[in-house]
Amino acid sequence: MKTKLKVPFIDFKGQYASVRGPLLKAVGRVFDSQQFILKSEVAALESEVAHKAGAKHAIGVASGSDALYLSLLAFGIGPGDEVLTVPFTFFATAGAIHRTGAKPVLVDIDSKTFNIDPSLIEKKITSRTKAIIPVHLFGLPCDMSAIHAIARKHRLKIIEDAAQSFGALYKGKHTGALSDAGCLSFFPTKNLGGAGDGGMVLTSDDAAADKIRILRVHGSKEKYFHDVVGINSRLDEIQAAVVRVKLKNMDRWNAARRKIAAEYDQGLKNLPLQTPFIPKDAQPIYHLYSVLTERRDELASFLVKQGVGSGIYYPLCLHLQVCFKGLRYRKNDFPVSEEASRKVLSLPLYPELSDGQRALVIRSVRAFFHA
Ligand SMILES: *Cc1c(COP(=O)(O)O)cnc(C)c1O
Repeated sequence: MKTKLKVPFIDFKGQYASVRGPLLKAVGRVFDSQQFILKSEVAALESEVAHKAGAKHAIGVASGSDALYLSLLAFGIGPGDEVLTVPFTFFATAGAIHRTGAKPVLVDIDSKTFNIDPSLIEKKITSRTKAIIPVHLFGLPCDMSAIHAIARKHRLKIIEDAAQSFGALYKGKHTGALSDAGCLSFFPTKNLGGAGDGGMVLTSDDAAADKIRILRVHGSKEKYFHDVVGINSRLDEIQAAVVRVKLKNMDRWNAARRKIAAEYDQGLKNLPLQTPFIPKDAQPIYHLYSVLTERRDELASFLVKQGVGSGIYYPLCLHLQVCFKGLRYRKNDFPVSEEASRKVLSLPLYPELSDGQRALVIRSVRAFFHA
């Protein structure tokens, strides 16, 4: 039997309670209209997200994974091409590259930020390299100035994986809208989550936006006429209606996440534990509050005994996944990523955590280290 934790790692009940009225009203509106696919709610969400992010276009699709896949297709990436990304990310980043027929080429991360290490990128560029997918992992913006400089020099496209970072800012601008394209996920656990799957591509490139709009409906511009083969990847009206309600609250929720993170930073000082690092140009949103410790598994078990949940993102790097054997990477190819996957632990962080819950998290971690 599972015992109920005093601080579950994830708990959406509080957030739901805070927006239950408007959410049910929005969903009711969709049912009353009996319009379920790519209608007014999706169009409204697209314009609200584009406006919020400062992007010219936002295109709703079925998931964050498809947002990545369709962005790559829109830039003509496919068999014979190489796309750079990191081994320490959610599977979808590399999965999307693989689905196009292109080859994911991996670059190790920076040990402090968990994001792509720009100093290692150029070594991996070949004549086949077409794009870079930097992942703003855990809601922390990548070093985009360095990445842009490399991309400009080698004429590479940049597609930001902003699935964990919507609302996070880099030099005051929205992650996801800093490059050729950016991809959002509305998966329920993301900081702007729907009630199912959903995603969005942000871009200010008119041609790419046109292509993605066509590709998401089986490659047809005019219904039943297909110039290219696309896929079925549409955002539905119910998801869009839900995400619109959440979007109105996103800044408030992200501010609360930052405040809790600052409280954890303060409370977890002077322990043999690496807490999140914030580069000077970055304003993160802490999709996850991840720490590094040699004694990760022991700490996780100890926390459970205190009633505190935790999570491991991600326990196995992408280059060591069975499905990517064909890429011919080996253990120790990406030492920083591998170390992170051994030592990383994410603590509960969501806006609705009570004073008592936050104090228990801090007290429990300190107790583990006898501090
Ligand atoms: C969640 C996530 C995705 C995929 O989004 P889905 O909507 O689940 O398909 C891609 N990249 C990262 C880094 C993610 O966290």
